[in-house]
Amino acid sequence: MKITEVRAYAHTLPRVGDYTMSTSSVGDPDSTILEIVTDSGLTGWGEACPAGPSYQPANAFTIRAALELIGPSLIGIDPRQIGLVRRSIDRAVNGSPEAKAMVDIACWDLTGKAYGARICDLLGGPQADTVPTYHVVGIGTAHEAAASAHDLQSQGHTKLQLKAGGRHIDEDIDSIRAVTNVIRPHVDLFVDVNRGWTVEEVIQVSNACADLRFSIEQPCNTYVECARAKPHLRHPLLLDESAVDLMTISAAISSGVANGFGMKLTRIGGISGMRAVRDLCEATHTPTSFDDSWGGDIIAAACVHIGSTMTEKLSRGVWIADPYIDGHYDADNGPRIEHGRIAVPREPGLGLSIPDGFFGAPIASY
Ligand SMILES: [Mg+2]
Repeated sequence: MKITEVRAYAHTLPRVGDYTMSTSSVGDPDSTILEIVTDSGLTGWGEACPAGPSYQPANAFTIRAALELIGPSLIGIDPRQIGLVRRSIDRAVNGSPEAKAMVDIACWDLTGKAYGARICDLLGGPQADTVPTYHVVGIGTAHEAAASAHDLQSQGHTKLQLKAGGRHIDEDIDSIRAVTNVIRPHVDLFVDVNRGWTVEEVIQVSNACADLRFSIEQPCNTYVECARAKPHLRHPLLLDESAVDLMTISAAISSGVANGFGMKLTRIGGISGMRAVRDLCEATHTPTSFDDSWGGDIIAAACVHIGSTMTEKLSRGVWIADPYIDGHYDADNGPRIEHGRIAVPREPGLGLSIPDGFFGAPIASY
């Protein structure tokens, strides 16, 4: 099997409902879709969709620019030889993990389709037919946050992520107290600050809430700031935006800076990169989630496949943007949340059947 053409598409994902974080809110994200065409008649799909231009260093423009360099390097390669694919795209451009992740996901999709196997089976097999997810409680008043947390638990959610930051910490402390008051036994709470607190603020919040059970996710802007705060915290510390590569992640584990991670597939280079993080976290008994910052069915399916292979005790859940998106690329098989869990796709590869022409005309072809 050889790659004969690589097509890129632009696809806007109109948002349903509000999604607010400390430093930004999500608009209508601009997703980039990759279709890898082969001489076998099989095609594979990849996707990268930053949650707007200010959440992470990459945006739709930088991803599409990197594809200009990556796309031509793929022609003639067997997509099932994912190691050879990775070396070819690493020679084509330095960095650009999000663009490379799209290629990686599409090659895993093709490999699964070629062998008649689901990606989760190729990765060691799923732990169950469904994976747990976590749901976000956005920035709001303490009363609103508690009401939302109550409703989500009634819908079956067992993992909640309360957003914080971007305002005086007394308001965050009020929301944390209100939400923990309604948290039921066996439900996990993560307070995700999305880089919105200073070192001083996260220390103050953690000490003010020392009697409450939750973890704090990415409180400060940089790894160094999080590491400075860590010895003074009363709660486990999770890294998300600062967990940018395997070296940083392994250092964060061995130094004790991080007690767990919120991982984004495209930030770490796709399914292959996330497989390495999964194995490192399994070996060190470190919890991680399996997410991307945003995206439609392609990203969601990729997250569910790799997330399903993690020991459930160590899985912080698989987050997908489905609750905030109207519609699916695949109306029947697109991943969706029911009672706090997501079904693992049943068909080979990613398990998606996307209709011809769904994304319109390509914006680029190589
Ligand atoms: Mg996060």
